[in-house]
Amino acid sequence: MSDLAEAFAGVDLWIFDLDNTLYPYPPGLWSQIDGRMGAFISDLLSVDRIEARRVQKDYFLRYGLTVRGLMKHHGVAAQDFLSYVHDVDLADIAPDPALGEALAALPGRRVIHTNSDRVHVARVLARLDIDPALFGAVHDIESTGFEPKPSPLAYDAVARAEGADPARAAMFEDAARNLLEPHKRGMRTVLLPTSCDITSAGKEGAHIHYVTDDLTGFLHSITGNSA
Ligand SMILES: [Mg+2]
Repeated sequence: MSDLAEAFAGVDLWIFDLDNTLYPYPPGLWSQIDGRMGAFISDLLSVDRIEARRVQKDYFLRYGLTVRGLMKHHGVAAQDFLSYVHDVDLADIAPDPALGEALAALPGRRVIHTNSDRVHVARVLARLDIDPALFGAVHDIESTGFEPKPSPLAYDAVARAEGADPARAAMFEDAARNLLEPHKRGMRTVLLPTSCDITSAGKEGAHIHYVTDDLTGFLHSITGNSA
């Protein structure tokens, strides 16, 4: 048994973030999404793009999520906003069937926990050529009551839905701060580091148990399959 196989023995709930975790954000994808948020707000409030950007950042900082500010202050239907901002070109996401195979070999249940929405998840998995049926559930921003990670409420919602023992769960994330809460709850944590400053802040902490930039290889080491 490899060290990793031993370290993850007994885990039967595998929780994956989506963006930048199951695939690397292609260059330009985030700016497409970010730009569409600005366009939506600019339209909604009839303000220029500079003011729209200020509002967008303000809501993000105050509520952890731009859409919550829009819901709270402007009565925006979340789905209108989410489907608009995620209507982006995903052609640069490369198929990754090898990751699908590595995921399929994990013992137990696989789920996705994302601050994004399930339509985006389905589109990304289709691009990756990964069978969505590999995942027992998608916990998205709507099903977690618009409580984004790293809020404890987001993890509470997933814990309620899954009813699992955190000691038998592992969480994979590109945002180090999103692993604080899983660590506190006794999950095993794996960080996929990115170059993005916001998400990589605090990646040296005790809440980061493992770091890998090769998710497929890492999963193979756990399951004992050769990559
Ligand atoms: Mg992510």
